[in-house]
Amino acid sequence: MNKDYQSKTKKYMLNEEQKKDLIDALNNKFGEKELHCPMCGNNQFTISDGYIVNLMQEDLKNFKIDKGIPSISIICNNCGFISQHALGTLGLLPVQEQPKEGGSNGKE
Ligand SMILES: [Zn+2]
Repeated sequence: MNKDYQSKTKKYMLNEEQKKDLIDALNNKFGEKELHCPMCGNNQFTISDGYIVNLMQEDLKNFKIDKGIPSISIICNNCGFISQHALGTLGLLPVQEQPKEGGSNGKE
């Protein structure tokens, strides 16, 4: 086993900019509303340190991992209840570039 494995500082999956974008997007949707956990009523939450993908299935006998809903999770600090929020709805999915006609480089 690599000795450096445990001696390195903890590595986070999401950087500060990604976390700020998530918090801003969620605050945009929730506004000034005070949030409470639906299970225990606590009002302190943590954002998961990584994106989540909920896998979608069309056949219960043949599970595949090729289609999913990119999401972020908010976890209740008291009871661990997890709520998930689709990144697409929050406007946080990368915009896919469409091929342009006529050889334009897309710059104005
Ligand atoms: Zn809770």
